[in-house]
Amino acid sequence: MSIESCQRHPESSSGRKGEQYVEVVLNIPIDKKFHYHVPASMSEEIKIGKLVKVPFGKRQMIGYCVGFVDTPQVRVAKDIIKVFNHELILDKSMLSITRWMADHYFCGWGEALDAVLPSSVRKGLRSKSIQIVELAKDKEDVKTELTNLRKRSPKQARALEILLDAEGGITRRDLEDLSGCGSSGFSRLAQLGLVKFTKIPTIEAITQEHITKSQHLTPTDEQKIALDLARNKLAEERFGVILLQGITGSGKTEVYLQTIQEAIRRGRKAIVLVPEIALTPQTIWRFKARFDNIAVLHSNLSGGQHHQQWQTIKEGKADVVIGARSAVFAPLNNLGVIIIDEEHENTYKQDNVPRYHARDVAIMRARHANALVILGTATPSLESFCNAQIGNYERVVLHKRVEGRPLPPVDVVDMRQELHERKGYHYMSRLLEKCMEQTLARREQVILFLNRRGFTPFITCKRCGFVLKCKRCDIALNYHKKISRAICHYCHYEATAPEQCPECGNTALKHFGFGTEKIEDEVKKKFPGHNVLRMDSDTMRGRNVYDKALSSFRRGDVDILLGTQMIAKGFDFPNVTLVGIVSADTMLNIPDFRASERTFQLLAQASGRTGRGPKGGRVVIQSFNPAQYSIVCAATHDYKKFASRELEYRKQLNYPPYSKLLMILFRGSKLEAVKERSFIVAERLRNFAKSFVETPARQMVGGQDFASLQVLGPAPSPITRIKNKFRWHILAKAQIYETFQKMLEDAKDELRPSKGVQAIIDVDPVMML
Ligand code: ADP
Ligand code: ZN
Repeated sequence: MSIESCQRHPESSSGRKGEQYVEVVLNIPIDKKFHYHVPASMSEEIKIGKLVKVPFGKRQMIGYCVGFVDTPQVRVAKDIIKVFNHELILDKSMLSITRWMADHYFCGWGEALDAVLPSSVRKGLRSKSIQIVELAKDKEDVKTELTNLRKRSPKQARALEILLDAEGGITRRDLEDLSGCGSSGFSRLAQLGLVKFTKIPTIEAITQEHITKSQHLTPTDEQKIALDLARNKLAEERFGVILLQGITGSGKTEVYLQTIQEAIRRGRKAIVLVPEIALTPQTIWRFKARFDNIAVLHSNLSGGQHHQQWQTIKEGKADVVIGARSAVFAPLNNLGVIIIDEEHENTYKQDNVPRYHARDVAIMRARHANALVILGTATPSLESFCNAQIGNYERVVLHKRVEGRPLPPVDVVDMRQELHERKGYHYMSRLLEKCMEQTLARREQVILFLNRRGFTPFITCKRCGFVLKCKRCDIALNYHKKISRAICHYCHYEATAPEQCPECGNTALKHFGFGTEKIEDEVKKKFPGHNVLRMDSDTMRGRNVYDKALSSFRRGDVDILLGTQMIAKGFDFPNVTLVGIVSADTMLNIPDFRASERTFQLLAQASGRTGRGPKGGRVVIQSFNPAQYSIVCAATHDYKKFASRELEYRKQLNYPPYSKLLMILFRGSKLEAVKERSFIVAERLRNFAKSFVETPARQMVGGQDFASLQVLGPAPSPITRIKNKFRWHILAKAQIYETFQKMLEDAKDELRPSKGVQAIIDVDPVMML
């Protein structure tokens, strides 16, 4: 250490000549670098971007080395305990992308870095096998035991029921997810001799199926325009974003495939992001059929499998990585293109720290790699649509379906009129019922869509009006009939459904509303002799169950497929000639400024599941708000009209894309403390806003002349309590993100966790509940 630096840092005195010191960031919610000493034995190994183990307080933690320093800013710099092997090194661009994430999303650098390295990789998990659970007795014997078990332990009983349904075994992880049964429950079942465990090698579990290769198709004229643009960009080796707006069935996937082919030809690689629920075998097959070296990253992989795929990618053995949100961090070199399919989907935003949006991270990553980004969708998010309008992205539109297939005609049924004319409420309108009869008579298939699972969303007392609520959340419990339980969809609390009102003892309880389980009952009653399959997160946890369900639908063993948004994405079944949307209103009534946009997107997606083959198709939408513009525009397949209407509304209220949004959520177990803190912070932010003028404002088209920084609230969140934590929030709107940085810097002290209240900062929030 030189004298000069000693003077610059008078408080630090531990820097010794010839010694190495490093800056380390940790996965903690403080954006700070900590200084450590590198023991001589590690001086060779230590590199920027490497994973290290360090002492931190009384603990040991794993962190990332992000730089070297001459002089540590602590009195005594502690020694690093361990430097991890070379496999776990992050390159310069990942370091700078995560640095950007920390600034943009207001999290610790270490927290952002932890999102890049999956925990299985950090922990060095290398499971060589996965555990399979099977029945150890005859099905009949198991059924006998089941009756007893149902009363004693519903979760164990459920695990058995699932095993009875699943031919062969099911992975232990899937079964745990699906039944809620934990380790002790499994041990108990094994003690009773009902189940047994076997292990199969991981490799076997993920060995690639044999797939017939597909040849590339001759592009349509519209596809060709998109492809030429993408090829030119790849040839230039410059960063760029293409918004590929193509209606459902217009052949966007073929554009992705041929763009990737071109990238590979040029020695570059590709990442394909799809929403988790669209990560179906069907999607994966389409890529596997075209390319040899594909790695798939999805949440159903065990830790060991995940690590193995990651390793394969890291070693450069994968040309294409396909996966959900976090695959944007896949350790590929020579990245040429990142495809984001269904770019408008919410699931690209992570709802815990770091609260990043994969689309924005992808764009950042592509900038570093001089790569191309393709955002594909039938219904662009308004943010992307505007970015194309102002020239940040290039937009290409595919107006036509492949082979001149028309978009299906859509009928909107006014359920108010239906209610009036039939003197009572029916879940199925006469039109939908008639269309179903006709479709089934032609031996074609029906998809029914309802974005709400369970049997009924409320249990109320007819006499005193009592609503059965979750003990921990301010939300009604959903009734699930098959398992006879009342379940909270937010915290998974469950209870036996009561037979009488806990308040007044009345036995006439009313189950109000309807979910997929109830519609399933209805449909089975109305169409006996037809096979109905329900797909929602209650029936479909576990990839095997899901694959099996899809295959049986494809084979035609199932006539009516009923489900939540899980079935709205990406399915391509030519024999589906009717799509019925049981209620278009479920999304519309959510208190969120994006409710109309979500409704439009979902209706367009769901309608897109039909008319995909030569037999054509039609769509019936049921709604109590048939004149609402998102429903009208979806029925006429008119994105442009929808966008201009919606943009008008956003402009009036200064919502994105006309502003940037930031939400601060206050959370704590004492309501008074939560409220108090949210008022203190709001006041501080308002004072700041009063004196603040944004400089380079108005980048968006037609941005209005609002005060540059607006602070709204505090107000109770729409769901005021979740898991026993009360929730209040503040919204801020600005023209540029830097304004938020300045504002939060100013309120730093008020935002620190104290008195049991946490302030959660969410930039570009997608969930306002
Ligand atoms: P999108 O992703 O836009 O919904 P898909 O990529 O699923 O559309 O394409 C719809 C169908 O059209 C698929 O079955 C696909 O194989 C077929 N298809 C796509 N492009 C072509 C083409 N150029 N020629 C013939 N068929 C095509
Ligand atoms: Zn709850």
